[in-house]
Amino acid sequence: MSNSGEGPATEEDAMESRDKLYIGGSWVAPQGTGVIEVINSATEEVIGTVPEGTPEDVDAAARAAAAAFPAWSATSVDERSKFLLRVQEGLTARTPELATLISQELGMPFTLSNLIQVGLPVMNFYNAAQVVTAFPFEEEIGNSLIVREPVGVVGCITPWNYPLHQIALKVAFALAAGCTVVVKPSEVTPLNAFVLADIFDEVGLPAGVFNLVSGTGPVVGEAIATHPQVDMISFTGSTRAGKRVMELASQSVKRVALELGGKSANVILEDADLQAAVPSGVSACFLNSGQTCSALTRMLVPRNRLAEVEQMVVETAETYTPGDPFDAATRLGPLVSAIQRDRVRGYVRKGIEEGARLLTGGEEAPDGLDKGYYVRPTVFSDVRPDMTIAQEEIFGPVLSIIPYDTEEEAIDIANGTLYGLAGGVWAGDKAHAEAVARRLRAGQVEVNGGGFNPLAPFGGYKQSGIGREAGQFGLEEFLEVKALQR
Ligand code: NDP
Repeated sequence: MSNSGEGPATEEDAMESRDKLYIGGSWVAPQGTGVIEVINSATEEVIGTVPEGTPEDVDAAARAAAAAFPAWSATSVDERSKFLLRVQEGLTARTPELATLISQELGMPFTLSNLIQVGLPVMNFYNAAQVVTAFPFEEEIGNSLIVREPVGVVGCITPWNYPLHQIALKVAFALAAGCTVVVKPSEVTPLNAFVLADIFDEVGLPAGVFNLVSGTGPVVGEAIATHPQVDMISFTGSTRAGKRVMELASQSVKRVALELGGKSANVILEDADLQAAVPSGVSACFLNSGQTCSALTRMLVPRNRLAEVEQMVVETAETYTPGDPFDAATRLGPLVSAIQRDRVRGYVRKGIEEGARLLTGGEEAPDGLDKGYYVRPTVFSDVRPDMTIAQEEIFGPVLSIIPYDTEEEAIDIANGTLYGLAGGVWAGDKAHAEAVARRLRAGQVEVNGGGFNPLAPFGGYKQSGIGREAGQFGLEEFLEVKALQR
């Protein structure tokens, strides 16, 4: 595919077939013959293929990463950060190509793909370079010198919803720490990871520091999680697969970092500015067609303001017209796959069956879109906290409005799921909002719409995960601690 200025590459340019894996510093033939087709989520057409890797490919990649570790971990921080900045430049130069690929694979509107799906990875490589440069690797405690050292070989298993961002959060910070990596991208959105491997190749990263093995979770993912030469697994995806990875990794006591699902609450308090809170809350649910782990999918509303909020939510939700990701007017693209579309429609059906009140949307395909994995922007009200749609992660454009009577009840409802990834609190008084935010059992909470901070730690409480990504906390995930008694 060619770079074509600021706009998307053409459909004709976009066919991307890869038949090799990136292992030990070269593109090598896979050891099996399986191939995975990549589907355009808006047209349902095949847009590329990648190898279906095998445990033998994982073995070669893990060995290459282990062989590269001694030299890479001994490089200076300055040397490593220079490589990261070169990758940042490479990603920046290929932004239109990457944004096009991700909009096709995943369905996010192209303008947003540029900003978020590629903009964030670019920022992550820059941030990793800056953070590692300023990081205090040594400190003294009494007669001990405490030194921080890279964990070793990191297996990175990533999902499809922010595919390159999630790879970058792991790879940029692991490499900055001095670790080497084996990456398994999602089988649904793998093409962007191959472009990243091209960039690593172009910047002359030492052989074996970055390795890419595409394939399925049960085969390639599990081979990484059990490989004796992999020291740590950094996983992002569903809680189901995260538990499986943790179980497998426990057999060799690997370090595990898990970034899992969420069912995050947006608590709107009685004196909140609804003109600000409601549009922001709808957007925080519908971004990326609701396929965001930190999406604020439960809007908690004081019962005496319910009617007012419902009307505003519906007005806002109906501006999210589903459509072609490459149409500049589109705010809501298709979901990533047929499986995901059917799963989300199943939840909409379940919401109706369990007695929630459908305000807008529904399980039918949006008008005029008979191709592509589209789902109507859907809003339910009178959702009870024990309903399935209030408890389970839907991963689609479905918002549940839950009325409450007292602030204590709102906090209980917000904390009343298995998850604890993110949240939001809105109040007339910022200090009040912050006090409630402190009581939410979640890793990140927006106070009166506070903006996303790419340097802030990201990760979950409870079954939303273990560990933190991004910024200094993200770097520390990949470091061991050693005490030298003197
Ligand atoms: P998965 O958790 O299945 O996928 C995430 C990654 O894990 C993929 O690379 C996947 O491989 C891999 N994987 C799957 N099973 C295993 C295994 N047994 N061992 C090792 N690796 C494995 O997510 P799905 O794509 O199935 O999405 C399902 C649900 O997960 C969504 O509806 C959503 O609720 C949630 N989800 C949450 C995300 C988050 O950011 N918190 C991200 C994505 C999904 P493969 O390529 O074969 O899929």
